[in-house]
Amino acid sequence: EPMGKVDLGHVVSTAVELTEPRLKADRITLDWTPPSEPVFAKAGEVRLSQVFVNLINNAADAMMEQDDRHIRIVINDGKTLSVTVRDTGPGIEDADRIFEPFFSTKQVGEEGMGLGLSISYGLVQSFGGDIRGRNCENGAMFTVELPYWRDTE
Ligand code: ADP
Ligand code: MG
Repeated sequence: EPMGKVDLGHVVSTAVELTEPRLKADRITLDWTPPSEPVFAKAGEVRLSQVFVNLINNAADAMMEQDDRHIRIVINDGKTLSVTVRDTGPGIEDADRIFEPFFSTKQVGEEGMGLGLSISYGLVQSFGGDIRGRNCENGAMFTVELPYWRDTE
């Protein structure tokens, strides 16, 4: 898939729609408002939507034992361009290893056998961006930084 001019709000909305049935079944609420003016990143649209699907599913997996199950997705359109995906789960246990292939704290047979974040890492790097995970006040927060689309390109 070639790199191109990607409407970031549209890509996040696609990922949200793809995960909606699962979130509904697991009684997880998701807070996401697309930006009023489109924001354009330089990326591969299908690959980028896969990254957000992975992050939303990981957030959902992390909250299955919680009563309060909430995901919030925000586009930060400033000096740099990024998307943050926050959850109200227990937070990341081993932040140094989560992007390693086959690293998982989940039971065997459950979910994606530890490949989701390593694949997402490779995809975001291929766009010239970056992905980071850290713990925040009450849960985990993943930040996907992306290059802006420049109309001169
Ligand atoms: P998998 O989902 O198959 O375990 P991933 O590569 O998607 O593999 O994630 C690797 C590990 O990173 C998870 O097993 C979990 O320990 C940690 N992780 C990822 N997302 C979250 C999150 N939102 N909250 C807490 N831990 C997380
Ligand atoms: Mg996963």
